Amino acid sequence: MEDTELYTMLLGIRPPWRVTKVRVDMTAERVDVWVEETPGMKVTCAVCENITPVYDHTEEQVWRHLDTCQCRTFLHARLPRTNCPADGVKQIVAPWGEPRSQFTRLFEGRVIDTLRECDVTGVTRLMETSWDETWGVMTRAVMRGLARKEKRVCARIGIDEKSLGKGHDYESIVCDLDRGTVEYVVDDRKQESLESYYQQFTREELAAIEAIAMDMWDPYIAATKAYVPDADNKIVFDRYHATTQVTKAVDKVRRREHKVLAKQGDLRLLGTKYLWLRNEENVPEWRREEFDGVKNAELKTSRAWAIKESLRVFWNYVYAKCAENYFKAWYFWATHSRLEPMIEAAKTLKRHIANIMTYFKHRITNATSEGINSKIQTIKLMACGYRNREHYKTAIYFHCGGLDLYPRAGAT
Ligand SMILES: [Zn+2]
Repeated sequence: MEDTELYTMLLGIRPPWRVTKVRVDMTAERVDVWVEETPGMKVTCAVCENITPVYDHTEEQVWRHLDTCQCRTFLHARLPRTNCPADGVKQIVAPWGEPRSQFTRLFEGRVIDTLRECDVTGVTRLMETSWDETWGVMTRAVMRGLARKEKRVCARIGIDEKSLGKGHDYESIVCDLDRGTVEYVVDDRKQESLESYYQQFTREELAAIEAIAMDMWDPYIAATKAYVPDADNKIVFDRYHATTQVTKAVDKVRRREHKVLAKQGDLRLLGTKYLWLRNEENVPEWRREEFDGVKNAELKTSRAWAIKESLRVFWNYVYAKCAENYFKAWYFWATHSRLEPMIEAAKTLKRHIANIMTYFKHRITNATSEGINSKIQTIKLMACGYRNREHYKTAIYFHCGGLDLYPRAGAT
């Protein structure tokens, strides 16, 4: 078999295109393949797809292709240009590669596969691509995926904020709780941020949203009430976020009490911070005895802790009415504890109780998207490699968007 014939098959080149020359350089471990169109071939204008004769050719362009054994392989061609009455002179779209890509579709697909398995730096080493080229592939994959994605309203969504690095930069993330995908990422956590998600849809479309999990965060609440019909019955405050309010209050009580006790030389609360923040069953075995000691002592912190632990029962109720009664009793206890942080936390929950009670109807939390959270956490850990915020967002869509990322001939 002639090597031109071999490469016609390997590259999947079809008439009227043909391989005209192959050059193998074993010292450089490199194969170069030249492709030309058959003279007289008709081509289509890249804009309007009208069939026209070839007008002229571009300079020779080069595409990286999948390696041939140990040899890096490159495809060369001068692409025909059309001169369409409507669109003027345009170069045609090569059948083997996407416009503006220096890679063939097959190579680009391999880079995407590799990107799914490791970080960008890893890909540059494995594929011998540059940092910018690799990001280019990821960015194009996401753009392609977003363009192909059908516009849809999800029945149950979760809205979450993610901090970016150490600063106060946030991203708001909208997840499809049923599919476990990230639907939308937007800078900041303001009312406008979330509104930009809702603005993609009509009010009728938004009526199809059945439930929305979120933190007790006023800008998200305001945006949702402004756009989603019947929002009051759909917003569910995340139970873990609600619990965190109370856990933080326990910590405040402990810090204050420790200060007072330490002045009197009583160091019982020293180094106990994380014991109080854990759920009781998660206290490590080796600290169990120490914890039982302080827990049963006449301390403000132990009282606060008992209030926090007893709130956990609330979420286990099956019937909303029973849960409501339980909350009333709990609230009475917390607000009569004479522990100011606990009273404050209880009041915060009371103020939001209507949309905490919706949990018993919808049973959703933001932790439903746990898989997404851990993926985003990983993306963030690799974030030192993301030179900017746009890259971070791109990576979230790439790994969590559930998008159709791969280039295909004849598709956008
Ligand atoms: Zn045209």
